[in-house]
Amino acid sequence: MHNTAYETLHLDYLYVPFRVTKEQLPNAIRGMRALNMRGLNVTIPHKAVVLTMLDQVDERAGKIGAVNTIVNTNGILSGFNTDAEGFMRTLVEKDIRIPGKRILIIGAGGAAKAVAFALAEHKARIMIINRSQEKAAALAKQLKDQLQADAAAYSLEESNLREAAASVEMIVNTTSIGMGTADTPIPARYLRKNLLVYDIVYNPLRTQLLREAELKGAMTICGAEMLAWQGAIAFEKWTGCKAPVEIMKNTIYNKLT
Ligand code: NAP
Repeated sequence: MHNTAYETLHLDYLYVPFRVTKEQLPNAIRGMRALNMRGLNVTIPHKAVVLTMLDQVDERAGKIGAVNTIVNTNGILSGFNTDAEGFMRTLVEKDIRIPGKRILIIGAGGAAKAVAFALAEHKARIMIINRSQEKAAALAKQLKDQLQADAAAYSLEESNLREAAASVEMIVNTTSIGMGTADTPIPARYLRKNLLVYDIVYNPLRTQLLREAELKGAMTICGAEMLAWQGAIAFEKWTGCKAPVEIMKNTIYNKLT
């Protein structure tokens, strides 16, 4: 997606993957300065710990406690979280209004934090259900303390899923359930029409959750949309150029199945 965007705009950048162990992360970040790399995306499991290795961290990324994008400006490393903004941009693009909306977030990991902060900033009423309930409770507390959000936490039990699904207008899956498998975080019988189901998992493109939601007549959004937007926002931070979002999206849709 990034390389296609660089080629399209004739920009002299190259996006390459590096596999970095936890032990080598500090060296990798130091190396970024030494090699004069313009930027990095950071993913599982480094998004939280990398915060401590940067010169400055954007306010939102600091609150979320996770950085997925680093910009190197003459040796000064700045951290951002483009997952949160990328997620919101997909909703804005589809004219989905968030203030006052009752939303169930399944999951309380790194991506859930970004999604929850973005939704709380836009005054959603949030329920969080996670396998480890203490993580859901900690996230709900953080949203309440830092954003005065309307947020509650429950454990991942069928009765909680049933009750929550019946009372919300939107469900967001932020767990990795369904990534590369046909598993789903919520039984299909709790899905219905008049529900917006957003699965941030992007591999496969149409997860089992999205397939079942569609069969029920629910509106759906797939994770590739967020993937494209978080990438587009990072692209703009690195290059200073407007990202060719549609081209980036098409690249993802052509690569993933
Ligand atoms: P993470 O921090 O490791 O969190 C994983 C979450 O999934 C936790 O809530 C975990 O629950 C839950 N989980 C994992 N396996 C489970 C299982 N078998 N049963 C129940 N719950 C389970 O990972 P992450 O960074 O948040 O990423 C989560 C997913 O989002 C990944 O698939 C990733 O690819 C996707 N993602 C997509 C985008 C995008 O742009 N579309 C951006 C970021 C992430 P516990 O807390 O109980 O362990």
